[in-house]
Amino acid sequence: MNQELLQDQRIISPLEILRTIFGYEHFLGMQEEIIDHIISGQDALILMPTGGGKSLCYQIPAMVREGVGIIISPLIALMQDQVDAMRQLGIKASFLNSTLKASEAARVEDELLNNRLDLLYVAPERLLTDRFMYLLEKSSISLFAIDEVHCVSQWGHDFRPEYIELSILQDQFPTIPRIGLTATADATTRQEIINRLGLNNARLFISSFDRPNIRYRVGLKKNPKQQLLDFIRYEQEDNSGIVYCLSRNKVESTADWLCEHGYTALPYHAGLEPAVRLKHQRRFLQEESIIIVATIAFGMGIDKPDVRFVAHLDLPKSIEAYYQETGRAGRDGQKAVAWMVYGLSDLVMQRKMVEESNADEQYKWIVKRKLDALLGYCETSQCRRQVMLNYFGEDPPDPCGNCDTCLEPVQTWDGTEVARKALSCIYRSGQRFGANYLIDMLLGNANEKLLRFGHDKLSTFGIGTELSVSEWRSVFRQLIASDIINVDITGFGGFRLTEKCRKILKGDEKVFFRKDPKGKATKQQKKKEAVIAWDMPGQEDLWDQLKSLRKKIASNQGVPAYIIFNDATLREMAIVHPRSLHEMRSITGVGKTKLERYGQMFLDVLLASQSYQRFPDQHPQKN
Ligand code: ADP
Ligand code: ZN
Repeated sequence: MNQELLQDQRIISPLEILRTIFGYEHFLGMQEEIIDHIISGQDALILMPTGGGKSLCYQIPAMVREGVGIIISPLIALMQDQVDAMRQLGIKASFLNSTLKASEAARVEDELLNNRLDLLYVAPERLLTDRFMYLLEKSSISLFAIDEVHCVSQWGHDFRPEYIELSILQDQFPTIPRIGLTATADATTRQEIINRLGLNNARLFISSFDRPNIRYRVGLKKNPKQQLLDFIRYEQEDNSGIVYCLSRNKVESTADWLCEHGYTALPYHAGLEPAVRLKHQRRFLQEESIIIVATIAFGMGIDKPDVRFVAHLDLPKSIEAYYQETGRAGRDGQKAVAWMVYGLSDLVMQRKMVEESNADEQYKWIVKRKLDALLGYCETSQCRRQVMLNYFGEDPPDPCGNCDTCLEPVQTWDGTEVARKALSCIYRSGQRFGANYLIDMLLGNANEKLLRFGHDKLSTFGIGTELSVSEWRSVFRQLIASDIINVDITGFGGFRLTEKCRKILKGDEKVFFRKDPKGKATKQQKKKEAVIAWDMPGQEDLWDQLKSLRKKIASNQGVPAYIIFNDATLREMAIVHPRSLHEMRSITGVGKTKLERYGQMFLDVLLASQSYQRFPDQHPQKN
């Protein structure tokens, strides 16, 4: 237990720690139950979405239980920030990894041995050394928290071989509770974690994977760079965000394009020098109003809480990947947007990549099914959140009201007749051709290739003039999404009929298509959708003053701004207008230590602000 911080106050309960040290009023979701379970000395496996509040689940037990809590994390680049954040709260935390000099590491080891720490963050390879194991034997340990525990899964994309060796903890320290934590949801990975780490007796805590503050939006790809620019310009001005692209070239050109238009955008992909990558990642974590354009190499552990948007210019591989990537938005619980544009060619490209890989047939089959599920998500006329949570095996909630299909319900139309025409065309031309060719045939465009194959003579030539090219494209996408046709990648990407089309051709089943939304939103409408951290008109000055004070303090200490106070805390200050340090203490995120360090400075700004004088009635009258 942290004597200095806790003793004088006689803090004993987790709730008191939450309130006094973290400055939060209530536990979220399952936090309290988890914390009680761990304090009682038992193992746990915690599956909670990003931003769900996993860290408190081991931080508080580590403070209550005797000894130091060992946090094992693969994310070396983030350890400094995590430790800084803890120290800001007055918690005694340190880290050990390869970035430390020998003398610094020796000092930390000394702290460990002398029980002068609440939390010690350590990289798995460091933990597994003989030297560190020896130190652990001689120290008093409250718990082991294994963060990003899905890294133990050999089939996952974040596999780290050292994680498998962490099973040693069970043998060496059988009485010390072990806690695995991850934001990866699926059942196979979960079982693999339990087996490999011997967590058979761990209690499972699975939260809902819903991220209610993220608004999901999916649109058609027309002029992707311009679409992205419009999205940022009208809705995300001054916000931080991540843009995902499939290739390195596209990452570079998109970052350049955003820079040309006045944004701070940095590229991030596996082809850049490690030092450059690290620099870009650090700038992203520390600065405000910064955009990172990345391939999926920019991934796990992007702990920046105030990412306001994640944009996809290319289709991800699966719903899991999409969920994980979009999940990096809005960790702080404030409004955020997951925005994507996609087209049929994306799908064909993704499938080609799978087919051309060296993987075995079964693996390819699984990957293709996952891609199909993602296409189904894109093409749905249902609430997107429902489709996604359903996919993760959760009972579908009510329509969410915070995705594009909920906000602008999609019209559907009876496409049975049209579908039959498309299917006949595919069949008559031998199930070898893709969308462009088939659309020419449907519209009766006798191009050279068509003439060469003599397909202008087919009875289906020119039978589909009632739809435009883009409407036909939408029809083909939806036929693929509902598995009525599929793409033959072994050949040239031609469409083939599946079992499902039989009923439609026989007239036993109807097909409904979604109408692609036509109307272009006006600039005013777009402005209304804007995600801004500050939405109290007339008080922008106060917001700017609070932010610039925060920035000044942060840069003096060389830490990211959110570590001082996050946006939600600043907002609450501006809304509640505390008039004394006592009132300041009631603001969410203002704990004992931060109050002592920064309370007066922020209070001074609030007391001096014009809006304070303009709206005296709004101030809470506490006695
Ligand atoms: P995760 O590790 O699950 O992604 P974090 O532990 O980083 O999530 O928490 C996400 C955000 O929620 C952080 O800004 C954290 O300070 C905040 N938070 C966590 N628990 C609470 C709580 N009980 N009350 C208010 N805010 C909380
Ligand atoms: Zn919805």
